[in-house]
Amino acid sequence: MLSQRVRPEILDFKAYVPGLSVEEIKAKYGLENVIKLASNENPLGVSPLVEQAIARAAHDAHRYPQNHSPRLAEAIGHAMGVPPELVVAGNGSDEVIDMLMRVVARPGRDNVVCYEHCFSMYGLTARLCGVEYREVPRGEDFRLPLESLAEAVDENTALVFVTSPDNPTGLAARAEELLVLSGVLRKGALLVVDEAYMDFSWPPEEYAMIGQVAELDNLVVLRTFSKAYGLAGLRLGYGVLPLWLAEHVRRARPPFTVNLLAEAAGIAALSDDNFYSATLEVVFKGRERLLAQLPRLGCEVLPSQSNFVMFRPTRPAGDVCARLLERGIIVRHLKSFGLPEHIRVNVGLPEETETFLRVLGEVLHG
Ligand SMILES: *Cc1c(COP(=O)(O)O)cnc(C)c1O
Repeated sequence: MLSQRVRPEILDFKAYVPGLSVEEIKAKYGLENVIKLASNENPLGVSPLVEQAIARAAHDAHRYPQNHSPRLAEAIGHAMGVPPELVVAGNGSDEVIDMLMRVVARPGRDNVVCYEHCFSMYGLTARLCGVEYREVPRGEDFRLPLESLAEAVDENTALVFVTSPDNPTGLAARAEELLVLSGVLRKGALLVVDEAYMDFSWPPEEYAMIGQVAELDNLVVLRTFSKAYGLAGLRLGYGVLPLWLAEHVRRARPPFTVNLLAEAAGIAALSDDNFYSATLEVVFKGRERLLAQLPRLGCEVLPSQSNFVMFRPTRPAGDVCARLLERGIIVRHLKSFGLPEHIRVNVGLPEETETFLRVLGEVLHG
C-alpha cells in the first residue's frame, strides 16, 4: 500500500474544521439571507482604502513581491512601536506558527505545551512537524493556567503557547502574569503569546505583550490582519520575534508567501484609522449587548476581551446551533474545541447582533 509511505502520525490526522461558508449555508437550507457570526471576522467588511490599494496593486500582479515584505514590516513596526527587523510577516499567522515550529522544535525529540480547549492550529502544526503536543488542564471557570504551563515544561520543550485574549473563551491574561511566565520558563523554551484578538482588549496596556519582545529573548508575539483589520480572506499575519530568531526564520522560510495584494492591503489597513476605530466601536457596543442580554435568556456567559463571547445555553448547544442555522444564523458550536455544551458567537453589525439575540430567545423560549 502506498499509504504506508505516509508518516504514521499523519495517518490518523484530524483535519482543521472550518465553519460552513455563507454560500454553502444558503445552498443547503435554501436561504436568501444569512448572518455569519461564527469565524470572528470583521462585521464592517473591508476598509475602502484597502480595496483601492488592492486595485492599484493588481496592476503589478505579474511581478514577484519583495521577499520578506520589507515595506509592510516597516509599516507594522511603525504602527506597533516595535523595531521592524523583529517583524516576520506570514501567510496568515498560521504560517508564522508553522515557521516557528519548524525552526525551533526538533522532530521526534521536542515538545510544545498548550492548555486544553485551545486554538487547534498549535496542535495540528506540531503533529505535522513530528513534534509532541502536550496539553495541561485549564483552571476553574476556564482560566488560563499559566502556572500549570510552566510546570509542564521540561528540557525538551521548545514552545509554550498562550492565546490572549483567548479563543474560544475570550478571557485574557494580564501582561504582568505573562512576564512572570516568561521569566520562569526554563532556558530554551520560548513563550508564544498569540494576540490575534488583542485589538479588542480594554485597556490594552494591561494585556498586550507586543512591546516586551525587544526586551526579552524568549518571547514571541503573534498578530493578525484577519480580525480587526478585516483581511481574513487575504491571509496576512505576523510575528514579532527576538532578533536572533527573526534572522533564522528569515533565512529558512520559503520566499514570497505574503503575496503582493496582501502586502498592499496590510499597509493600507494600518493607515485607515477611521475604519479601525469604527470596528472597535461596533465590537465594544455589540459585546456589551451580548454580555448583558445572554444572561437574561438564561445563558451562562464568560466575560470577554475579544470580538466574540462564549456561552452555555439552557438547551443542548448542538440543537441550538442547528435551530439557529435553519433560521440563517451561523454561530460556532464548540464541540471541535472539546466543549460540546458551549457556543461561541462573534459580534456582528448592530442589527445582526440584535437579530441573533431575538432568534436565540425564540429558539430557547419560543
Ligand atoms: C483567528 C486566529 C488567528 C489568525 O489566524 P490567521 O492565520 O492570521 O488568519 C490566530 N490565532 C487565533 C487563536 C485565532 O483565533
